[in-house]
Amino acid sequence: METYDALLAAIAPTNGHDSRTILDPATGRPVGEAPVHTVEDLERAVAAAAAAQPAWAAAGHDARSAALLKAADAVERSAEELARLLSREQGKPLNGPNARFEVGACAAWLRATATTELTPETVVDDGETYAELRYKPIGVVGAVGPWNWPMMITIWQIAPALRMGNTAVVKPSEYTPLSVLALIQVLNEELPDGVLHVVAGDRGVGARLAEHPAVGKVMFTGSTAAGKAIIKASADTVKRLTLELGGNDAGIVLPDADPKAIAQDLFWGAFINTGQTCAALKRLYVHDDIYDAVCTELTAVAKAMPMGVGLDENNVLGPLQNKAQYDIVAQLVDAARDAGGRILTGGNPDSDQPGYFYPATLVADIDNNNPLVTEEQFGPALPIVRYSTVDQAVAMANGLDVGLGASVWSSDLAAAREVAARIEAGTVWINKHGAVDPRVPFGGAKQSGYGLEFGVEGLKALGVPQIING
Ligand code: NAD
Repeated sequence: METYDALLAAIAPTNGHDSRTILDPATGRPVGEAPVHTVEDLERAVAAAAAAQPAWAAAGHDARSAALLKAADAVERSAEELARLLSREQGKPLNGPNARFEVGACAAWLRATATTELTPETVVDDGETYAELRYKPIGVVGAVGPWNWPMMITIWQIAPALRMGNTAVVKPSEYTPLSVLALIQVLNEELPDGVLHVVAGDRGVGARLAEHPAVGKVMFTGSTAAGKAIIKASADTVKRLTLELGGNDAGIVLPDADPKAIAQDLFWGAFINTGQTCAALKRLYVHDDIYDAVCTELTAVAKAMPMGVGLDENNVLGPLQNKAQYDIVAQLVDAARDAGGRILTGGNPDSDQPGYFYPATLVADIDNNNPLVTEEQFGPALPIVRYSTVDQAVAMANGLDVGLGASVWSSDLAAAREVAARIEAGTVWINKHGAVDPRVPFGGAKQSGYGLEFGVEGLKALGVPQIING
């Protein structure tokens, strides 16, 4: 794709579709026109995906890997155009762990998925019994995604699906359709016709995908509430599901941690993508002994981070993506302040500024039952809770019904690993938070969902296991 304008033109609505103007959350100015696809469009896409699937499955792993590697090249060719569009639509800055980083991750995950091997496994071979476990394609896979990391999460869903011989139909979030339409336009420069489709409709289109009899699996990333609706909608067809749902990740800072040394990583653990990240640090538990020092260091880091319009190369924090999310964050911080929480920095949005900017906010001396702690804020406001015993911290970390990620911060790796093993979460990081790796499986515990993504486990999740016995 040659230019940004050519990319936008390629995904513009055609005559048969309604269109919707997408506004930049940083400025309120139009970004582009998105088609509003319907359930009829979905039906056509599913039928075309089903028709293309047998040939794609028959092409074999080597051909599919080669196609995914070429698709990664295509993403890199259009990387700057994709990053600029993502920045304008989602709000995230070009720099920092944001838009360019997200586009880079798309290429990296495509390559890693293309080169991960899943070979048949001999389960028993003792001279009497021979049993082998292998994975066959499922058929058509539906991919329903959120607005926070729209391109990267789409790749997480579709790369293993395609690699395993499935075809895919993507339903992006209503908030960020352009980013996903553009990404798929670029991928389809290299993928064979018919294997990858996008239907940019509302949640009714997502609901139809979840119940569609010709769809064998849904990869869903989004809120726990929508995940529960998808479980129900998929029940009649006993569809396979991978559910990456909401989280409220705890971080526990042990008394031997060095506040200055960890402050920067704590900050990005919580504020990556301006806090709009599923596995971001959303409540921080700090031991009495170093509570004040951690608050001081974290405040210094937070105050130094430039926030503003994403296309400005200096910024590393952006706006909230939408008004609804802005209101959630503002209400939670106001309620925390009213309940006696001490605002260390932030908490005072400039209402004259255009765009949904909410300053990076730290709230100390907050009760563990305060809604800013117990509800998913999904934005730039971190509550810091004091504790005095590790048992108490672990109990508070485990006290909610979600468990996506968590982290333990300490100078003593062995001690940190022991605490980590006691936490009810799909991933527990040590001295970092939210770091994902295409080789390392990722998934939630409790109501943060089920099923693993990435690596060999991620490929298995996109196949139907079959035992050959005899
Ligand atoms: P959301 O659940 O509102 O929407 C996600 C997608 O689901 C959208 O495309 C939407 O149209 C669709 N949808 C909504 N209701 C549906 C239904 N009944 N049937 C089918 N599709 C439906 O989530 P969001 O606000 O876009 O994203 C934020 C949430 O996603 C947060 O809770 C966040 O923690 C979570 N999230 C989780 C992960 C993870 O890996 N676990 C990653 C990113 C975001």
